[in-house]
Amino acid sequence: MNSPPASLATPSADPRIIARSEHNVSRAHISPNALRVLYRLRDGGFQAFLVGGCVRDLLLGIEPKDFDVATDALPEQVKRLFRNCRLVGRRFRLAHVFFGREIIEVATFRAATAPEPGEEPIPVADLDDERVPGLEESEPVAEEAATADPRGLPDDDSERAFDASGRILRDNIYGTIDADVWRRDFTCNSLYYNIADFSIWDYVNGVADVSARTLRLIGDPETRFREDPVRMLRAARFEAKLGFSIDPATAAPIGKLRELLAGVPQARLFDETLKLFLGGYGAASFRVLRARGLLGSILPTVDAYLSAHPGSLVEKLLVRGLENTDGRVQADKPVTPTFLFALLLYGPIAAIIEATPPERWHELATILDACDQAVREAQARISIPKRFSLGVREMFALQPRLEHPRGRRALRSLEHPRFRAAYDLLLLRSEFGMASKATADWWTRLQEVSAEERNTMAEALASATARDPEAPPPARRGRRRRRSGSARRG
Ligand code: ATP
Ligand code: MG
Repeated sequence: MNSPPASLATPSADPRIIARSEHNVSRAHISPNALRVLYRLRDGGFQAFLVGGCVRDLLLGIEPKDFDVATDALPEQVKRLFRNCRLVGRRFRLAHVFFGREIIEVATFRAATAPEPGEEPIPVADLDDERVPGLEESEPVAEEAATADPRGLPDDDSERAFDASGRILRDNIYGTIDADVWRRDFTCNSLYYNIADFSIWDYVNGVADVSARTLRLIGDPETRFREDPVRMLRAARFEAKLGFSIDPATAAPIGKLRELLAGVPQARLFDETLKLFLGGYGAASFRVLRARGLLGSILPTVDAYLSAHPGSLVEKLLVRGLENTDGRVQADKPVTPTFLFALLLYGPIAAIIEATPPERWHELATILDACDQAVREAQARISIPKRFSLGVREMFALQPRLEHPRGRRALRSLEHPRFRAAYDLLLLRSEFGMASKATADWWTRLQEVSAEERNTMAEALASATARDPEAPPPARRGRRRRRSGSARRG
């Protein structure tokens, strides 16, 4: 083997220890509950570190999303220290310590996952690698069959297994902190904040990479991406979220390896898709995914539509929708996968509708069939739980009803559980000339006025449409546009 290029990060045997006086991570910015957990582990005689994204974010002056703890205490020992603690995961057990709504995840140091140079992947065909949809897993690499004694031998013959492409299927041994470093992805995610003296332990030059805003995989990039192709999506997510640049050696194999994402369980890709698009940086994630050719690996039909229609209104609508979603996340307002998938699948749904004869474009059956087909095609790569795909269907089914409000029936649409999402989609469409602005405005006003005035508006509309079924809602000028349940160029 050639000696690794200088830009590869190979963990050193001993950490560089950055004393408290030499870094800016202050306890004032650490969750008091995380501190409680760290102190209690320390007082119990264990090592206790903050690790992962929280240390990175604290160094960057960003408020961490959550705080993860790494320790040499075994899960059972952690459990004994905390009343409010539950062990989760089967083979690799993690402790969740609960404080109201905040959960501090405590993981025992895990053994290295990096194969030795020359180690051949072991084909393992019969492992069930399915994950529960929607399950929050911050350490998704390995939690399979149970074993009684956490440090005892697992109940089958090897602790670690790779599939034919090099993907880790199992990894279930506890280890020491220097081994734990190896199972982390990027150098910036592999910094350990030691509660014993508030220093940072750095095995991989991660502090320097954080300062340089560089995303660099630990070890040989191709091997690490093969072990877990989701790391390619994580790279894109951190590039978008942190504005880091991906080191050239880390970026290089992505083009060749992105198709390995096809082998990742659909439920996990669904989770990652939500993290990419609903984490507050969805528009940036979209740009990065497109630029790195990764959108096609998770949402091939969406990517195909956008590539076939460069600069389309659909793309503008999608990006604007993602920007609006980012705004909502930043304002702490709720966001929903239903709306996200309506945005993402807009192009594929429109393409399916437009492949039917134009006179059928506005029929409910056409719209519903198109939604079902678009969801089915997307499901080949990523699972979309039913509650969300049904929501997408309802949002699209409501579009003609919103575009053609009919007197008092319009008031009933207001009560529809999916009204708000469908209305938001109508607003977006009207912004890009895909639906009438006057109609969208009418719905906006309808929601703003008193119940009494609502009745008046509905009656005015009823008599206007009685005179002319194609009339726009009253009190707005302008000729009605041809409505489009789909996405014509407008
Ligand atoms: P975020 O800000 O999104 O929470 P994070 O870096 O904390 O970012 P998590 O998904 O919460 O990401 O994971 C916590 C840590 O676990 C990571 O920082 C990384 O060290 C490790 N990790 C998570 N997923 C992987 C993976 N697929 N491969 C290797 N290490 C991972
Ligand atoms: Mg995290």
